[in-house]
Amino acid sequence: MLLNCGQPLPLLRHTDVPPRVIENFILTGYRFPNYSLRDCLLSAFRPTNETGNFWTHFLPVFVFFYHFVEVFGWENAPHGNDPFFYPLWNYFIGVFCLLMASSLAHLLNSMSIVVREVCFFVDYGTISAYTVGSSLAYYYYIHPRAGLGEIEEQTNPEMDQKASYTTLDLSVFFNTLYIPSACVVALVCILSCCNTRQRWRKYRYIIRTMVFLLPFFLSSTPIFYRLLTKSPYSDESPSFASSSTMAVYFYGHCFWLVLSAVFNISKLPERLAPGRFDIWGHSHQWFHCFTFLSILDELHMIKAEVKAILLSTSMLLPPGSFPRLPGPTVTSTYGVMLLLQTTIVSVIVWFSWKANSIFGPQRDQLAKDHPTKHAKCH
Ligand SMILES: [Zn+2]
Repeated sequence: MLLNCGQPLPLLRHTDVPPRVIENFILTGYRFPNYSLRDCLLSAFRPTNETGNFWTHFLPVFVFFYHFVEVFGWENAPHGNDPFFYPLWNYFIGVFCLLMASSLAHLLNSMSIVVREVCFFVDYGTISAYTVGSSLAYYYYIHPRAGLGEIEEQTNPEMDQKASYTTLDLSVFFNTLYIPSACVVALVCILSCCNTRQRWRKYRYIIRTMVFLLPFFLSSTPIFYRLLTKSPYSDESPSFASSSTMAVYFYGHCFWLVLSAVFNISKLPERLAPGRFDIWGHSHQWFHCFTFLSILDELHMIKAEVKAILLSTSMLLPPGSFPRLPGPTVTSTYGVMLLLQTTIVSVIVWFSWKANSIFGPQRDQLAKDHPTKHAKCH
């Protein structure tokens, strides 16, 4: 490897880096896995094959924040510290951690091959935690009886009797099992994804993509319910108008998710022209862009329902309704997230320890064979 004092370290071809670092159909623009923290941070401003991956999840943090804070300025909105917004803040934490961990994982993964493994374990962990942040928001804002803790009950005698029975059948699931199931599925996701870095390597992209279908279908059950049943808001109310935009955003959310999965699995466009998209335009950057667009549509969908709750003065409830949904508390939102994050951190520590025992000797050998520029320059 060439050493160049005072200059950025040279970028390498796929034949010059350890096999572990090679991405399919990406031939050039590699950083050798012996960068210092400073080299990694500076590489955000150099055209490497990770630069686009970093920026496509780092810049969206600001776009997301811009759209997120709008909620607190709405008419009837309580203060940002109010328990009503606890689920929304948990959703924010989930998305913020996902975007930051993903962008930093791409930036810092060339510190060593062990750090590279840890970076991506953290990445999978934050994706899993994000799914629970979404579920908490869905539970409190899109749940069949969301927001009712604040609102006087009314009954609608015209409500389809069959629909009310369906509601009753689902009440146990929504009230008792929904959030615990979301947490269990999130743990299944991180365990499966971390495992794909140590086994099932050949099918890793398919497994990582497919495994996140589980939390999608589970988390989205309140939305499916909403789409299949009558709106809880009266047709002429402003809440009905806001809530009815939810469906469009949900379809947009699904569309971007499908597109991101297609790019992640197919490795298009670099599969068609290996070497041509090494720096800009390869599939992982498109995957990042489409996942962010799916998150943005999800945020708009949640906001539409938050607005509907804030605007509602009455709701049309099915006859024989099941008990009202308790409002969010610190324990039922931040507490759930904290417990989940602690478990996720334990899983990451366990896999990192395993990765260190597998790749530690190789890392030490590489450090010996390829000393950093700083060591040689003095
Ligand atoms: Zn990524």
